[in-house]
Amino acid sequence: MLNIFEKRFPSELNRNDEYYMSHAYNQALIAWEKDEVPVGAVVVQAGQIIASAHNQTRRTLDPTAHAEILAISQAAKYIGDWRLNECKLYVTKEPCPMCSGALVVSRIQGVYFGLNDPKMGCLGGAINLSNLPSSNHKFKVKGGILKKETHALLNAFFEKKRAEKKEKEAH
Ligand SMILES: [Zn+2]
Repeated sequence: MLNIFEKRFPSELNRNDEYYMSHAYNQALIAWEKDEVPVGAVVVQAGQIIASAHNQTRRTLDPTAHAEILAISQAAKYIGDWRLNECKLYVTKEPCPMCSGALVVSRIQGVYFGLNDPKMGCLGGAINLSNLPSSNHKFKVKGGILKKETHALLNAFFEKKRAEKKEKEAH
């Protein structure tokens, strides 16, 4: 049985995509605990996680406080360069238009996501900003990492929100 609320402790010995996504997933769980839409992200450079963040739009009243934006800023500060061309970003959901745009201008090396988003995703879902014909910067994109878990967690959140809304309306 899949327990989506359990933190993931992947083995340090096998640092594959699932390893990094597990850390992004744990960030998403922190967002859940704060009643934020559960999306988490980490930035990886030379195999090391140099930034981790979760969505904070509700708490900060800031529509730009998405996990990806926060993680990108953190990573740039850490390496002391706005160019992230030696970094990869792992995020639990396909990035939205804003975050995909930020990833393009950050010159990220690659983006790895969990759940794909055919409605708002801009790395292959609704459109694909990673390979704009006129852009010099193209990057690798891979989706579907921990897809089941990332999907279940987001679904659970929106179900919870719908239930809360119904509850409110009943009173
Ligand atoms: Zn976003």
